Amino acid sequence: MNAMNMISVVIPVFNEELNLEELIRRCLAACRETRQPFEIILVDDGSSDRSADMLEAAAAVHPEEIVAVFLNRNYGQHAAIMAGFEQVRGEIVITLDADLQNPPEEIPRLAQTMEQGYDVVGSVRANRQDTLFRRIASTLINRAVQKATGVKMHDYGCMLRAYRGHIVRAMLMCHERSTFIPVLGNSFARKTAEIEVGHDARKKGDSKYSFSRLISLMFDLVTSMTTFPLRLLSFAGAIVSALGIGFGFFLLFMRLLFGAQWAAEGVFTLFAILFMFVGAQFVGMGLLGEYLGRVYHDVRARPRYFVQRVICRNQCEEKLYESGCTSLSQHRLRGH
Ligand code: UDP
Ligand code: MG
Repeated sequence: MNAMNMISVVIPVFNEELNLEELIRRCLAACRETRQPFEIILVDDGSSDRSADMLEAAAAVHPEEIVAVFLNRNYGQHAAIMAGFEQVRGEIVITLDADLQNPPEEIPRLAQTMEQGYDVVGSVRANRQDTLFRRIASTLINRAVQKATGVKMHDYGCMLRAYRGHIVRAMLMCHERSTFIPVLGNSFARKTAEIEVGHDARKKGDSKYSFSRLISLMFDLVTSMTTFPLRLLSFAGAIVSALGIGFGFFLLFMRLLFGAQWAAEGVFTLFAILFMFVGAQFVGMGLLGEYLGRVYHDVRARPRYFVQRVICRNQCEEKLYESGCTSLSQHRLRGH
């Protein structure tokens, strides 16, 4: 068995008893079509319905093909996918949702695209079947992510994606609690591609994301890639301060030109001074924010960089690193 070509499919499952049977049947069929060795890793994210039992049964019926992972309680979709990543044996890792919105039939095409040497293959949902609110929110977020990461991908919300093994191992080295996997994956990728995939309406059951969970997911996404919002405080403060100073000058000018009634006994002058100080406070908060952002980056302790490949002078062979080294000395030791 060529482990290089093994495909691992990772699927988070949270109260999906109505979809599981069809999901497993269609995934097995799609994976068999690739004619490559494969495994399907289903992660039960603390379901309270029959999902866990069904996964256990499926793993018993298809011991070679299905791996079931059970979390003790509900940790959220992205944490569940991470738990699945820990069990991955294949070099091509594909994630998808359990609700059959992402057709499993796209798996062979994703795997084929990966064979062309990409690190991450994303997907764009053609004729997306979601509510208008979610489509608009998603468009805004996608634009923001594109700007912040500089990686041109159109649809970060679509979980039907493929990652190469070393990207998954890099993601596992990130121990932060709030993650958004597609963005994290892209931050370690060198060559990425996108394909268009179909999208269906949710087959059965309800979306597991309430409005408040969606908001918290959006915050996860934004904070996982940038501390720019903290910097906004400084910008806002500087602008308010500048306006306050401008207003002060304006009052002075008008006072000199048109006499005392422009001063209105100092009330407006007080406003001008107030604006200056409020602005200065915001600048101060922004400064604190800068430190906070750095503390956050360090606490998160992501690997400083990720070594994907080393070409050694004396051995003239390329090495693919099993897991990245995070310090130069370690790196040298291994190389010579
Ligand atoms: N999911 C999960 N844990 C959660 C919420 C969702 O594992 O806390 C799984 C869910 O079973 C599904 C996927 O994540 O496989 C996407 O969830 P859903 O379809 O409800 O999200 P939506 O399509 O509405 O974004
Ligand atoms: Mg869904």
